[in-house]
Amino acid sequence: MTVVRYERRGSVAVVTMNRPEYRNAQNSAMTYALDEAFYRAAADDEVKVIVLAGEGEHFSAGHDIGSPGRDAHVSFERRAGLWWDHVGRQGAESRFARESEVYLGMCRRWREIPKPVIAMVQGACVAGGLMLAWVCDLIVASEDAFFADPVVRMGIPGVEYFAHPWVMPPRVAKEFLYTGDRMPARRAHEVGMVNRVVPRDSLEAETFALAERIAAMPRMGLALTKKAVNQAEDLQGMHAGMDSVFGLHHLAHAHNAETSADPLAGMTPKSMKAAADES
Ligand code: ZN
Repeated sequence: MTVVRYERRGSVAVVTMNRPEYRNAQNSAMTYALDEAFYRAAADDEVKVIVLAGEGEHFSAGHDIGSPGRDAHVSFERRAGLWWDHVGRQGAESRFARESEVYLGMCRRWREIPKPVIAMVQGACVAGGLMLAWVCDLIVASEDAFFADPVVRMGIPGVEYFAHPWVMPPRVAKEFLYTGDRMPARRAHEVGMVNRVVPRDSLEAETFALAERIAAMPRMGLALTKKAVNQAEDLQGMHAGMDSVFGLHHLAHAHNAETSADPLAGMTPKSMKAAADES
């Protein structure tokens, strides 16, 4: 089974994460398949707008930290940066090389796709799932969608693509991280993180209607506009801010590795879910 599906509907490319049995948890196979699909959509002259979707009940439960398809030990042909392969390296060197490539590097690469990308989000959009939604230009969410970054439970200050204080006000970002609570779609809309909230059964129709409206604009105008807003965000410190927080993120992984069971402080998908259900 292919972990990412690619199709074209008129001038809209649809990239669909396809591991619904694991709530679209992202393993490296999926990351590289997403990269392939985005590259294809970017290069295809017929494509004006890209929609990123998740098959099944949930957009994405985050990075794969425990499914049978977990492949953190596998080498892939690297795309996002010049760091050497993490496989065969020790400790922080291995983690830093790997996350520079598959997490921060890939997300930054996708944020710069010179075509508008719309995330179509239903159900869970958690941790690594947030990173995927955040690199998109627009987010259309269904009423049942929710957003959460619970990795502070692992002693880690948020996911690798640390956009939190740019996609929501800083005080809201702190509450979001300190509690790990689920932010419902309506609240995400209220704070400006989400463009539209629609009923679940019209999510697809609304997303594609918006995609088609945008697709009627000139290609170059869209590409330059995207770059203009992204540059403005970076001038507000997003790029440099993320770099600085990436260091703290890796300090946390290293601290966990030194003082607890593993770099994730011994947390598993099961214990993370149990902690979320308790709160
Ligand atoms: Zn990490």
